Amino acid sequence: MNCKDELHEECGVVGIYGVEHAARVAFMALQSLQHRGQQGCGIAAVDADGSIRIHKEAGLVKDVFGEDELSGLEGRSCIGHVRYPTTKVGGRENLQPFGITGKIGRFALAHNGNIVNAEEVKLAMESHGHLFSSTSDSELFGHLIGVGPVSLGWAANIGHAANQLDGAYATVVLTENALYACRDKYGFRPLSLGRLGDGYIVASETCALSLVGAEFIRDVEPGELLVIDADGVHSHHFSTERKHRMCSMEYIYFARPDSVIEGCSVHVFRKRSGALLYQECPTEADLVTYVPESGMSAAIGYSEAGKIPLQMGLLKNMYVARTFIQPTQAMRNLGVRMKLSPMRSIVNGKRVVVVDDSIVRGTTSKQLVQMLRDAGAKEVHMRIASPKYAWPCYYGIDTGTRDQLIAAQMSEQEICDFIGADSLYYLSEEALFKASERTELCTACFGGGYPTDLYGYSEEKE
Ligand code: SF4
Repeated sequence: MNCKDELHEECGVVGIYGVEHAARVAFMALQSLQHRGQQGCGIAAVDADGSIRIHKEAGLVKDVFGEDELSGLEGRSCIGHVRYPTTKVGGRENLQPFGITGKIGRFALAHNGNIVNAEEVKLAMESHGHLFSSTSDSELFGHLIGVGPVSLGWAANIGHAANQLDGAYATVVLTENALYACRDKYGFRPLSLGRLGDGYIVASETCALSLVGAEFIRDVEPGELLVIDADGVHSHHFSTERKHRMCSMEYIYFARPDSVIEGCSVHVFRKRSGALLYQECPTEADLVTYVPESGMSAAIGYSEAGKIPLQMGLLKNMYVARTFIQPTQAMRNLGVRMKLSPMRSIVNGKRVVVVDDSIVRGTTSKQLVQMLRDAGAKEVHMRIASPKYAWPCYYGIDTGTRDQLIAAQMSEQEICDFIGADSLYYLSEEALFKASERTELCTACFGGGYPTDLYGYSEEKE
């Protein structure tokens, strides 16, 4: 679903402590997290004098950081961030990490997720005279840390701030002497800890650990705050209430297939879900294909389970600008054709199963089906490796409002008719849990059962 109507990723974070040329390592790690956000990126590093230096700009990691920028960020600890704007305003002022000077001292903070009671907390702080320069939840988090009593120390202040915020966050905080990393008490967003030489790294996905040669230690637990300093790693639990509501879309779509989230390989999960998709809805077909690339692992599972050959029926153009807004539907249609091409030599005259990870608005699926038919496909059967996406996400995924989600507006048969497929089937929620071998996940966008209070976070507020 990388190229369509489209769910957007929700940022990625990295933190490094006790590693030579930490910012250069973060530069590499952030590139492996680039799929989580392409709007902008930044790195904050502690230099030899204990000062925190920050460089952040709009653009991809490879374009924002060159030799000049990285040589200005020397030091053995840093944090980094790639951003997709989860707030409606996506301006430069929201790029991360944020540098904040509070009563307790100077620090930098970067965050992934969305805080559902941010407005309430912000209003309360503003009524006490606090000023905010951005619409980012991260700045709010930083202010809460910054106003904490100095006597409590960093860990207690960060834990206290985290406890006041409800929703989804994986957050890294950098001070002169330590790196702090925490996850919300529901565990919506992934965050893993690894060992790198004599130091440590935390990152949104284990693919970042692998890339820099770090050894995976464990996941940061929901409601846990890790303190990483000269004495090693110390664990604190800032919340007694701990759940394991990992975002199921991390497994289905957002995370890289070579990442492992809370013990479950993303690729293995997707393959299993594809096999279950076949078991739930066997289909007679000549070939299985996929919407590149997030549909690929599930398509492998479907193909193996059904003993139907897997073929590359759709080709993705890697060099098309990732985000662009076209003023008319006709131009948007062309946009899909620029990004995906059907392989006539493969699909012509064939009964084709197309595996995709999800359908959000349906307009791209409709064009895909038409493109395959134009390329000669005799039948097109859409198989979706997730349940119907019918409820907006309030935890950092940009889905639009409920009236924009096709599954909230139409029955399965109506969607099938709308996209013009010969048949359509969505994976069951039961199979989703089976594929992940988990008993707890956030599945709110499928069934509407939000794990948190929404604090009046209604669609009007979006
Ligand atoms: S509502 Fe959906 S997209 Fe949002 S956190 Fe839950 S599972 Fe993930």
